[in-house]
This record gives sequence, structure tokens and C-alpha cells, in this order.
Amino acid sequence: MAIFRGTEENIKKAAEHLNNDNLVAFATETVYGLGANALSPQACEKIFQAKKRPKYDPLIVHIAEMGQLNDLVQEIPKVALDLAEAYWPGPLTLVFKKKEIIPDLITSGMDTVAIRMPAHPLALALLSTAKIPVAAPSANPFGYLSPTTAEHVNAQLGEEVEIVLDGGECDWGIESTIVDCSQGEAVLLRQGGISAEDIRRVTAEVKFGKAVLERPLAPGQLASHYAPNTKLIVLKKGEQPLESQSKSVGFLQIGAAVIDADEVEVLSRDDKDFKTIAHKLFSALHRLDSLGLDVIYVYELEGEDLAAAIMDRLLKAAAKRS
Ligand code: AMP
Ligand code: MG
Repeated sequence: MAIFRGTEENIKKAAEHLNNDNLVAFATETVYGLGANALSPQACEKIFQAKKRPKYDPLIVHIAEMGQLNDLVQEIPKVALDLAEAYWPGPLTLVFKKKEIIPDLITSGMDTVAIRMPAHPLALALLSTAKIPVAAPSANPFGYLSPTTAEHVNAQLGEEVEIVLDGGECDWGIESTIVDCSQGEAVLLRQGGISAEDIRRVTAEVKFGKAVLERPLAPGQLASHYAPNTKLIVLKKGEQPLESQSKSVGFLQIGAAVIDADEVEVLSRDDKDFKTIAHKLFSALHRLDSLGLDVIYVYELEGEDLAAAIMDRLLKAAAKRS
């Protein structure tokens, strides 16, 4: 893989690569995406192969301007238009009834499609230069930690992808909020940078639904996702780690509480500074995971919205793998 800086020439090259049905990894404000021409099943097939992603996990389609939306979706309900006007470009994905032109591979055979307009200038430049909608999940092997730098992508998918457009560290550091608007009302499927409160500012009623992939496999069982190779344990407030459990210990510090650990990553000493915690989360986990530790501990977070989004990632990263 070659890491490309976001010059005009490099963006052109990457856009051509996409139009030739090849993969391009690129920075967005949430996490790095692994992009392919969304209108080409052959191109999208490469995403699933590179990530070893199961076909039941649908992809998000990225666009650069509102005009592209009409080509992809059957209708734009008022609630979706209002949300798009308020938060696009930004870390918000909206689900619509899809048009025929969207390959089944992207939607896992469903009749709905998830669409986002990212805010990162490099992502927008790539999308508008390529002049095609781009399907892009996070640029990591399926189930593993999301990448928030070009180096993360290179370390994880360097063999599978030729070009990564380097836009620096991702601003948000966690995946987009997903809202299903396909039935004409807002149903929150995944928490992220745009909060339920933000959505309520646009539409009075927000329902809470279960994400397609992220639905627990069985009652009480969370699907493992966003996970390091090292065992991750989320401690309750005041809980102490079991000494006997391991030899080398990593600690992801949030707030003032500390434990006896060999390696520490401080996300924030202020346990209410959720923006900083989200921003650093995956980078810190990547580093700890590279050290060959026996276990990584982190204390649970309290709070709604972005705090809940971070807890969602932590609990899935700590979930037992099947
Ligand atoms: P990402 O994890 O950012 O790659 O986004 C992919 C996720 O978007 C999937 O795992 C689903 O949870 C969600 N998604 C994609 N398409 C749809 C859809 N048509 N309906 C509901 N959720 C979707
Ligand atoms: Mg992902």
C-alpha cells in the first residue's frame, strides 16, 4: 500500500482508481473508510474480500452533494431532508428506501440503503472528483478495531489496498450515528457523533431501534465488534481487577481512577470530556493491542449520547467472540 497525501494530483489518481473499480482507503471525520464504486457489484465485492466481511453486514454509501441522493433513493421523507439539512456533511448516516441501481450486495439484500455525506474535506474532494457514490465501511478487518489514522489502515490492510489518502487523525474517532428514515420517522439505530438530543432538535420524536448487524445474536449476548486481539475487560465503578487473571496489564484511563498496570493510555483525566475520549479511543486501543499484553482494563463510562456511543464500542470490543 502507498500512503498518499491529499494533494490535487493524488485525489485525481485515487478518484480514477475508484472509477476503475479498485479500492481506495480514505480519511473521513469519523474513521478511515475503505471505498469502492457503489454502483459496481464487482468493486464492492472487493471490500468484502479485503475485510473478510460477512455479506449480512450492509455498507454505507457516501455522497458529496444532495443532488446525488435522488439517483439512489426512492423518496426523501421530510424528516430525512430536515436531518440532512441540519447535519450533512457530518457524522450522520440516514437510511432510505433504495432505488434499483443500488446493488443488493451493498444492502445485504434489504430494500433500504444507508447514505452519508462526510465532512472531511479530503473525503468530499475525493467523492466530488470521482463523481460516483462510494460504498465505504471502516478500513479494518471485520470485527477488529476501527482505524483513525492512515498508519492504522496500512498496518491492518496494507496487503489488500493500494491507495490510502492520508487526512491525518480522524476528528471524531468513532463511527457515524445511524438514523433509519425509511418509514418517514426517525429511528436511531447506532449512536455516534450526532446525539439523540441533536436529532430531537430537528424532529420531536426519535425512536430507538436495533442496528442490522449489531442486534444481539441471542438474548443477553452482544456481538463482538470493534475488538482488539487482546482481551478487554470493562470494570464497574470502584471494581478492582482480579490480580490472578494476568501478568502484563494495560489500562485505558478515563477520569481519575487508576489501577496497577504495566502500560497506560490516558484518554482523558476528565471523565466528562467525551469528545476527547472518543477521539483517542481507537488509537489508544491500537497501541495497547500492539504490545502483546495479557489483558486491557478500562472503567465504564456514565452518561448519554456520545458517552453511550463510546460505551457501546467498549462493550462490543469486550464481548466474547464466537
Ligand atoms: P460501518 O460500521 O460504519 O461500516 O457501517 C455499516 C453499518 O451500517 C452496518 O453494520 C449496519 O449497522 C448499518 N447499515 C448499513 N446499511 C443499512 C441499512 N440499509 N439499514 C440499516 N442499517 C444499515
Ligand atoms: Mg466497522
